[in-house]
Amino acid sequence: MRKTSFFRVSSATAGHAPRKRFGQNFLVDGAVIAAIVHAIDPRPGETLVEIGPGLGALTQPLLERLGALHVVEIDRDLIARLRARFTPEQVTIHAGDALAFDFAALAIHAPLRVAGNLPYNISTPLLFHLARFADRVRDMHFMLQKEVVERICAEAGSTAYGRLSVMLQSRFYVEALFDVSPESFDPPPKVRSAIVRLIPKPCAALPDVSAAALSTVVSIAFSQRRKMLRNTLKSLFTEADLAAQKIDPAARAEALTLDDFVRLAKILPGIKANYGSE
Ligand code: SAM
Repeated sequence: MRKTSFFRVSSATAGHAPRKRFGQNFLVDGAVIAAIVHAIDPRPGETLVEIGPGLGALTQPLLERLGALHVVEIDRDLIARLRARFTPEQVTIHAGDALAFDFAALAIHAPLRVAGNLPYNISTPLLFHLARFADRVRDMHFMLQKEVVERICAEAGSTAYGRLSVMLQSRFYVEALFDVSPESFDPPPKVRSAIVRLIPKPCAALPDVSAAALSTVVSIAFSQRRKMLRNTLKSLFTEADLAAQKIDPAARAEALTLDDFVRLAKILPGIKANYGSE
C-alpha cells in the first residue's frame, strides 16, 4: 500500500467537541482528503451517499465534483451545522443511524456510490449492513482502521483472515488503496487508518449459495479459529462430509478458501442455494 504525505489545513473541529461515542475523528489533512476524492473519482450526476459527513471535510470536495449528494449523519449538532452550510438542493441530509438506513431507497435510477470516513466503533456491523445492498451499489470507498482493511483484504492462510474477509470477499472485489496516519485527523485516533475500495461482484461471479448458509458455516468455523475443523464444525458436518468436499478435517478455519467455504455451505442441511436470500 502507498503511504500518503500530509499537510494540515485547519482545525476542523473548531466550536464542536468531538464525540467519542460517535467515533468522531475529523479529517484535517488536505492531501489525504484530495487523495480520497481522487480515488472515488466522482462525476456530475452520479448518485453518491456519504456516511458520517461530520463537519464536511469530504462532503465539500465531493459536492464540488458531483453537484449534489446524499449524507447520513447521526449527530444532531453536526446535522444543524450541515443544514446551515449546504442547501437542500446541494446536500440531502438523512438524519439518523446508518446501521438502520435503507440504502436501496437511494438507488432508484442508478447504482449507488457509497463513501465515508466511517466511525470505527461500528465499522464491522456497518459493512455487514451495507453488504445487503450490494446488488444496488456500484462501489464503496471507506476510511477504516487499518487493521480492519487488512482483515477485509486478507487471503486464506494469513492471521488477518477471518469471517469479515470471507463474507465481504464473497460479495465484493476488495482492494486496499493507501494508509492514513493518525496526524491526519483531529483528534488523532489511537490507530492507523487505511482506505479500502469494495466493488460488488456481478451475478455471474457470486457464489451459488445463500449468504445465510455461508455465514453460518464461516461464523462457526472461525468461532474457535485455533481448533481443527473436525471439532468446530462437528455440529454441522461429519468428518466424512468434510473429506467428501476435499476439506482436511484436521485443518483450521484460516486454511479454507472462499471456494472451500462455499462447497461446505452448499451441503449445509436445511438451507437452499441462492446467494441473494439471507
Ligand atoms: N467525514 C468526516 C471527516 O472525515 O472529517 C467525519 C468522520 S468521523 C470518523 C465519523 C462520522 O460518522 C461522524 O460525523 C459521526 O457523527 C458519524 N456517525 C457516527 N455514528 C454514526 C451512525 N451510526 N450513523 C451515521 N453517522 C454516524
